[in-house]
Amino acid sequence: MLAPGSTIGILGGGQLGRMLAMAAMQLGYRCIGYAPPGDNIASAACVDFFENGWGEQDALAAFASRCDVVTWEFENVPLTAVAAIPHDMLAPQPKALEVAQDRLNEKQFVEQLGGTCAPYMRVESDEDLMRAVDRIGTPGILKTARDGYDGKGQWRISSRRDAAGVRFPGRPCIFEGMVEFETEFSVILVRSTSGEVRIWDSTANEHEGGMLAHSVLPAGPLVESQVEQARELATKTADALGYVGVLTLEFFATKAGAVFNEMAPRVHNSGHWTNEGAATSQFENHIRAIAGLPLGGTETRFASIDMRNIVGEQALTAHSILAEEGEPHLHLYGKSEAREGRKMGHVTRVSHAQP
Ligand code: AMP
Repeated sequence: MLAPGSTIGILGGGQLGRMLAMAAMQLGYRCIGYAPPGDNIASAACVDFFENGWGEQDALAAFASRCDVVTWEFENVPLTAVAAIPHDMLAPQPKALEVAQDRLNEKQFVEQLGGTCAPYMRVESDEDLMRAVDRIGTPGILKTARDGYDGKGQWRISSRRDAAGVRFPGRPCIFEGMVEFETEFSVILVRSTSGEVRIWDSTANEHEGGMLAHSVLPAGPLVESQVEQARELATKTADALGYVGVLTLEFFATKAGAVFNEMAPRVHNSGHWTNEGAATSQFENHIRAIAGLPLGGTETRFASIDMRNIVGEQALTAHSILAEEGEPHLHLYGKSEAREGRKMGHVTRVSHAQP
């Protein structure tokens, strides 16, 4: 068990790191962050912050020397940077990053465990793309295998002619058939050092432009009928990775069952509601897990919950939400510039009344 006053290192400097550090502080820990120079809003919640590149081995070693355990809030931390941190200090283990950083790897990993994915093919040239379009059909999506998030590095292809106009981006991709889904949902679980798994309720998630916009509970009968199967897959995934901390698997709820989309080896935007809506938040349980503390309950505390992201200039007037009736819980991340499409905060509205 990590003693009070110990130091937790967080790789990455965004809102997830900021909320992890806030939860860690409540439990008597200190956090030190590490991320390349930029608008590292997690630094406000950390006692110190290294603004250094992922390739700076000396800085990484200096950072690690001041930490008792190191975690991450961002799944695209280069594995070479993670390798500079002593292995036994890391939680979760880097194997989870290795799998999740590559869309092909993660799909193959969950397929081996019995999961179902949309039809996909590896694409490494224009010719591969045409072959994949012929085999899988349209509509579909070309996605870079690595470094994609919030819909970045994705091109929708609605016809063969469309595909001919798309230039292969020069890095390994996958072409994936478009899934006809009713809604999206995620399974967010926490796994302890002893292998205990606890799972939060699954919200129905709505995306806009490839980015999560809105999560609601209850998620509706279709998600509720598929969530058990999805939880089994998520638990098997966490067990197979020997995972410690919060792990998220995203799914499409289709008429034919749950289709795995992707995994995030970290706390997740669709779990922000757990701050006020669950017995223990995803942030606190991640800290508890990596610190070797007992896990907290994941039960939902309200009859209905609605989490909405605050994006771009919406942040400029977001304080007006506080005047609403009911219980609006506003979180602003303190980002310096309200750029279009940038996640600036979120609001969680909770109610004991049935929706
Ligand atoms: P991803 O980065 O793969 O999670 O994609 C971002 C969002 O784009 C997803 O949450 C979906 O809303 C949409 N999307 C991605 N892949 C597919 C697919 N194969 N079929 C339908 N929608 C998709």
